[in-house]
Amino acid sequence: MHELSIALSLVEIVEEAARRAGAERVVAVHLRLGAMSGVVREALEFCFPLAAQNTLVEGARLEIETVPLVITCTPCGRDVQPEEGSFRCPLCGAPSMHIRQGRELEVTGVEVPDAEPAMEEH
Ligand SMILES: [Zn+2]
Repeated sequence: MHELSIALSLVEIVEEAARRAGAERVVAVHLRLGAMSGVVREALEFCFPLAAQNTLVEGARLEIETVPLVITCTPCGRDVQPEEGSFRCPLCGAPSMHIRQGRELEVTGVEVPDAEPAMEEH
């Protein structure tokens, strides 16, 4: 299950951010997850607490914001949001592989007990 290795590297990133902030534990982790990131949200949610065991991140909430797929349609000359599982423009039906967003897998925030975010959105 590759979500476990992803969860492990997430925990590593978060732990480092928490340490830099001088925190002893992490309350919550905010994550942006693209629809096309190749990561199954439920699997990641399942693996995260396992990966966090015996780290500063143990017991932290995982808050996942799903980012929908957006492609650029050349004929229409604009960014569009295709139907789930499709790479076709909903306006003209042209297929497009110009992905604008939807591949994200990034930590956007780490909450530590004093409520000061250890890591700001970049
Ligand atoms: Zn189009």
